[in-house]
Amino acid sequence: MAKLKYKRILLKMSGEVFKGRLKSGIDGDVLVALAKRVRNLQKMGCEVGIVIGGGNIWRFRDFKHLELGRVTSDTMGMMATVMNALAFESALKSVGADVRAVSAFPCEKAMENYVPKRAKQHLDKGRIVIFAGGTGSPYFTTDSAAALRALEMHCDVLLKATKVDYVYDKDPMKYKNAKKYEKMTFKEVIEKGLGVMDLTCASLCKGGGMPMLVFNLNKKGNIKKAVTGAKVGTIIT
Ligand code: UDP
Repeated sequence: MAKLKYKRILLKMSGEVFKGRLKSGIDGDVLVALAKRVRNLQKMGCEVGIVIGGGNIWRFRDFKHLELGRVTSDTMGMMATVMNALAFESALKSVGADVRAVSAFPCEKAMENYVPKRAKQHLDKGRIVIFAGGTGSPYFTTDSAAALRALEMHCDVLLKATKVDYVYDKDPMKYKNAKKYEKMTFKEVIEKGLGVMDLTCASLCKGGGMPMLVFNLNKKGNIKKAVTGAKVGTIIT
């Protein structure tokens, strides 16, 4: 079996990933395919924490035009992450994974509240932990939640799944001459104002010394490459 470079990881997936071929919501086939890939990590002995966004259902920045108010809109976004977490927890269970979803946005009828010590115990026991509800507070994103949980759970790396192969200086989907970075620092990300993550997330990782690997989730085998230290994506330190 391949040797792990990172024993404990925090995988951040945007809600967009769950949308698959749909315009919004959750594509069941995508969910199960992803669940199998994550279960394989567990089989390899990797301790897996997961933060899922909510963008496939609700995201503050997509609905700024509605007169909802920031706090209400963000609350809806956090609830969207809970829905995604519930769906992914079920998908993981259906493929035989041992998993617990926990939420920083209290909703006890759906999943246990996020209590750091308890979540850590789940990880110690080899269970996959899905961290729902973002940070539990408005004005944040799930990228920042992922940085926080990676630090709190003493993860070895934050794996940020994207649709592109590397971090680029501009959108590679729009600009053919976009420059790719194979490695870089959080200082550079912040100074250049790169859109790969928000500033709060970059500052948290920088301050806490949490490395981040940005990689393309759409390519099969990439998650395994990421955890075994094979060449993939952009490493940010
Ligand atoms: N959100 C929030 N606090 C958090 C995390 C998320 O209020 O700690 C809200 C916010 O409105 C955000 C939405 O939840 O737009 C969905 O999260 P995000 O945009 O990070 O999802 P992604 O783009 O990764 O799917």
